[in-house]
Amino acid sequence: MHTSKHQPETCPDCGSDKIAKILFGMPAWSPKMQREIDQGKLILGGCVISERDPKWQCVDCGAKIFQENQ
Ligand SMILES: [Zn+2]
Repeated sequence: MHTSKHQPETCPDCGSDKIAKILFGMPAWSPKMQREIDQGKLILGGCVISERDPKWQCVDCGAKIFQENQ
């Protein structure tokens, strides 16, 4: 399992720089959000929220990165 304090620059698995933030819940749609989804910067994680969810995901290989507790 990968953890990071901040959004990683590159994927710890494949080195891709396409790291998307995962957004949980049902956010209000906005053109900005849609643009970020289209650009691969944002992934909708759905509305199932478990105790510990990954915060970022690699767009290329799907590796999930959890935010480290401060
Ligand atoms: Zn990757």
